[in-house]
Formats: sequence, C-alpha cells, structure tokens
Amino acid sequence: MLIVDKDLCVGCEVCVDNCAFGAITVIDGLAVVGDACTLCGACVDSCEVEALHIEGGEKSVQADLDSWSGVWVYCEFRAGLLAPVSLELLGIGRKLADARGVKLSAVLIGSDTGESAAKLIAHGADIVYRADNAALKYFTDETYGAVLTKLIQEHKPEVVLAGATAIGRSFIPGVANTLGAGLTADCTQLDIRADDGALLQTRPAFGGNIMATIVCPHSRPQMSTVRPNVMKALDTDASRSGELIDVDLEPAMLQAKVQVLESVISEHDDVNIQESDILVGGGRGLESEKGFDLIRELAKSLNGSVAASRAAVDSKWIGYPHQVGQTGKTVAPKLYIACGISGAIQHVAGMQSAETIVAINRDAEAPIFNVADFGIVGDLFEVLPKLISTIEGRQK
Ligand SMILES: Cc1cc2nc3c(=O)[nH]c(=O)nc-3n(C[C@H](O)[C@H](O)[C@H](O)COP(=O)(O)OP(=O)(O)OC[C@H]3O[C@@H](n4cnc5c(N)ncnc54)[C@H](O)[C@@H]3O)c2cc1C
Repeated sequence: MLIVDKDLCVGCEVCVDNCAFGAITVIDGLAVVGDACTLCGACVDSCEVEALHIEGGEKSVQADLDSWSGVWVYCEFRAGLLAPVSLELLGIGRKLADARGVKLSAVLIGSDTGESAAKLIAHGADIVYRADNAALKYFTDETYGAVLTKLIQEHKPEVVLAGATAIGRSFIPGVANTLGAGLTADCTQLDIRADDGALLQTRPAFGGNIMATIVCPHSRPQMSTVRPNVMKALDTDASRSGELIDVDLEPAMLQAKVQVLESVISEHDDVNIQESDILVGGGRGLESEKGFDLIRELAKSLNGSVAASRAAVDSKWIGYPHQVGQTGKTVAPKLYIACGISGAIQHVAGMQSAETIVAINRDAEAPIFNVADFGIVGDLFEVLPKLISTIEGRQK
C-alpha cells in the first residue's frame, strides 16, 4: 500500500508528474492516492521530501552481491545447429565482459553438439560449459532449466543473457524464479554501469511508446532475454582460444515429466523473414489481400521475401510469420522496403536495424520517413508497378 506522510508532503505535484498511471492527485496541498496505483514505486523514488513509501514493499538486498562475477550467455542449440541469436549475444556479452574486466562464458546444452563449442569460442567466448547428453536432445523446461540453474548456482555469474526465442522465453523465467533473480525480457540494448556493475537493460515499455532502462540492483544474477537480430555477432576468429568444460550431469537433472516423442521442423509459410537479406514490407496502404500481389512481385524481382505490418496481418491479408515489429519478428536485412506502412513505433522497433530502409507512402508526413534512408512520396499502386518494371528491365 502506498502511504502519504501528511507531515512531510508539501503538495509539490512531482509525484503526480511521475505517475504513469494517473493515480495521484493533489487535493488541498496533499497527495492523494487513487485506485489506479500499481505500487510501481516511481513516485516514491521521485519524492524529494520522502513523503511517500510503500508499506510492506521494502526491498531486500542480497548479502553477497560482490561474490557474483562473469558474463554468461545461454547459447541455444537445436536440430543440430546453434541459433544465430547465440552468436549475437556473444557479441554484446564480449563488450559487457570487457567493460567489467571479467570472462565471457557460453552455456551449451544439447546432444551431439559437435564443433559448436569451438564456434562459440571463435565468436568471443572465453569458457564454454558444455552439457552434451542424449537425454538433452530435445528441449524441455525441466532438463534445460535444471542444468542451467545448477551451473549458475555453482559458478555465480553476475550477468546471464539468453535469446528471446520460443525456447528462451519458455525456460529462462523459471530459472530466474528458482534463483530469486530479476529478469528483463525482450531487451533491445544492454550496457554496464561502471561503478556498481548494474546491467542497464533497455526495452520498449507501455506498448512501445517509451524505452525503459531497467536495473536489478538488489539481486544477482542479472538476467535478460534479447530478441534475435538486435545485437551484432562478432566476426569469426578461428585463432581465439578458450576453455571447454564438460558439465557433470546428475541423473536427477535429466529427468522430465514431459516426454518429447518427435520434433518436426515447421515448413509453413515458405520463409523465415529473419534470414532474408531483402524484405519488402506491406501495410494497410495495400488495401486488400490482392494488394500483396504487388509486394510479392517486387520481392520476387529482388530475390527477397515478403514482410508485413500488424495491420495487414490482422486484416488477414498475409500470415503472422510475416509480421515485423514488437509483437512480430525483429529483422535486420540489408534492404527493407516499406510500402504503405505508416511507421508506428511498434513496427519500427522490428525493422530499424535494417542497413538501408526505403519507404513508399503517399503521406509525406508519415513517420516511416523519419527512419528511412530513401523515401518516395506517392501512390504505391502507381510507384510499385514502375519500380518492378524498371528492376526487371535491368535484369534482362
Ligand atoms: C502493443 C502493440 C503491439 C504492436 N505490435 C505491432 C507489430 O509487431 N508490428 C506492427 O506493424 N504493428 C504493431 N502494432 C500496431 C501499430 O501500432 C500500428 O497500428 C501498425 O503498425 C499500423 O500498420 P500500418 O502502418 O500498415 O497501417 P497504418 O498506420 O494505417 O498506415 C498505413 C499507411 O499507408 C499509407 N497509404 C495508404 N494508402 C496508400 C497508397 N495508396 N500509397 C501509398 N501509401 C498509402 C498511409 O499514408 C499510411 O501511412 C502494435 C500495437 C500495439 C498497441
């Protein structure tokens, strides 16, 4: 419960300005808390006269923060392959570890992992903890969670990163919960605060309208998941050397209530847009499912793939696997052509890492032009056919 100390409150309204939920009003010079209060604590932190506190919400600080050291990356391995996000996380992990002056470790869990450990070292890891066992062939929350939790408890890393993939999203929260650690999901930026080693975890908040930087100052490890295609992998350096540690697996860690009978690679909706170098994205400006034929034609002429805004997906003009953005996929192609897409922050969050962005929109004020390298103001039904015939003409 949020308590206002009437003797200390000066009615300055700073808490009103800092409450994102509009839960505080000042009446007769005193702050009054309404039902919309979520106990987020923003007002408590902002109150200079310390007139606000949350009863029963005192933060408990873990006693041994200094005994946690090192940056770890959970490196996803599935169907015989390392997930690209694992290498991307080693890229940012390397920066964080260097800033902290500590080692970067990779955790590899699976079966028949082959040369993957060497690949992780070549991409920046100093140490690889490898749990390679037939019982870990298929992912289950219980087995993977048990292995990672045990390793963290034994070695006490200060920071643990994982991909915000289906697997990462599934078992990392359980690991954080078992450890009593904080976890920030879907980060788009990570940094380290030099004085206390706090991991600065930035992610979109309030529907993507603001970027929030979150710290977990009172507990370790500091855990984050990061979406694929947000961070950059380092170039392979085959001359790097590192230490490979095979993890002792206790039988209890390999027991799961869930038994995976078969794992099948999905082949629906032709292509993984996260792997395409060229994407042509279509939005509500296409007006109908038929409008996407133009997008497909342009994508085909460029040997690229088709992406879409949520408005187009919600209208059922194209399937969800094509959606780019906060609730879709994050992409980082060499070229992204946005056609009839306004450039809402939730869409831009998923494509702003593209090397070159071209926007076609009939509204010169559309926000997509703020992130575009090249813009064409015009009706896409006129622009696209001309563009397609020009490209095809040059290919002859
Ligand atoms: C929590 C949350 C999550 C979200 N997640 C996503 C997400 O993952 N991905 C996403 O895309 N959105 C997401 N959204 C929705 C987002 O806010 C926008 O509503 C959506 O991106 C709009 O899609 P659009 O640009 O296609 O449509 P609109 O905003 O309607 O824009 C259509 C554009 O087409 C232009 N246009 C129209 N006709 C033509 C023409 N003939 N020629 C040229 N230009 C034309 C218009 O000028 C306009 O700029 C999310 C929203 C919320 C609240």
